[in-house]
Amino acid sequence: MLVVMKTHATHGQIDHVLDAIRAMKLSPHPMPGATRTAIGITGNVGAVDSRTLEVLPGVSELIRVTKPFKLASREMHPADTSIKVAQTVIGPGTLTMIGGPCSVENEAMILRTAEFMMENGVRLLRAGAYKPRTSPYSFQGMGLEGLKILDNARRKTGIGIVTELMDTDNADAVEQATDIIQIGTRNMQNFSLLKCVGKAKKPVLLKRGMSATLEEWLMAAEYVMAGGNYNVILCERGIRSFSDHSRNTLDLSVIPPAKKLSHLPIMVDPSHGVGNREFVPQMALASLAAGADGLLLEVHPDPDHAASDGAQTLDFAAFKKLLEALKRVAEPLGKTVN
Ligand code: PEP
Ligand code: MN
Repeated sequence: MLVVMKTHATHGQIDHVLDAIRAMKLSPHPMPGATRTAIGITGNVGAVDSRTLEVLPGVSELIRVTKPFKLASREMHPADTSIKVAQTVIGPGTLTMIGGPCSVENEAMILRTAEFMMENGVRLLRAGAYKPRTSPYSFQGMGLEGLKILDNARRKTGIGIVTELMDTDNADAVEQATDIIQIGTRNMQNFSLLKCVGKAKKPVLLKRGMSATLEEWLMAAEYVMAGGNYNVILCERGIRSFSDHSRNTLDLSVIPPAKKLSHLPIMVDPSHGVGNREFVPQMALASLAAGADGLLLEVHPDPDHAASDGAQTLDFAAFKKLLEALKRVAEPLGKTVN
């Protein structure tokens, strides 16, 4: 249920509606808009008795939200969401770049990559300190030490950090070191982790589960939003299919329906999507054409010696070339690359 307030509703009237919703043992989610405030209601199992709220002063109308994901749905929030983070903004009109290595390997390579990104106008650096690896014998990431390296790079260069949170135990440490908390594909339905980042003060980059439907993905976003963190960025990173020509099948066809159903920004990770650096640029450009709001790309000063995912990682020259091509394609599409 969505309560739409009148254009000139006072703060007092809005607070009164919030209290009335709490008194019904439900959760109100106020969403101030350009002209008026809307209040989403969650927590109800059945239909909400709308008459109690309809008659309150300042209320314009009540709209029933039919989708199972409420806060993530466009019914609840018709305008596209913009998320301000680390001197940049993710949302309509922009293609936001996030570049960096798969894993934090050492301080020098992180600093070098952060400086390279800043020089090229990229304001967000990705790198995992905690790595979800298929094999327990593969490099597992530098953990806390890796977070310190990221935090240092942020202080020295001013770049924003994107890094993965794998378990609730490290939530505070990751939240402090990062500007965007990444939830990986394998954790998209880790409901305790989703509830945990629902309480975080930093935006969440929610990767699509490798076998998740669009509805399951939006329900995962709903878990985060229901906790009070409305800054969720969706990220398509490829799903499992019968294809064996690529690491995953990058499902760009999910972007238009995701945009129709949800107001949340959507990014694409072509690196994990295709798994081969030779094919990453083509799919990055295709992501832009399909309506992506940003790209997450693996970039390393020396990909052939990367500790993880080197095969799908671009070197600096290839990233720079792709960035130029993206700028040329973005312009006629009415987007700026940031
Ligand atoms: C990553 O971005 O390094 C990563 C592990 O991604 P995913 O969760 O999509 O596999
Ligand atoms: Mn990786």
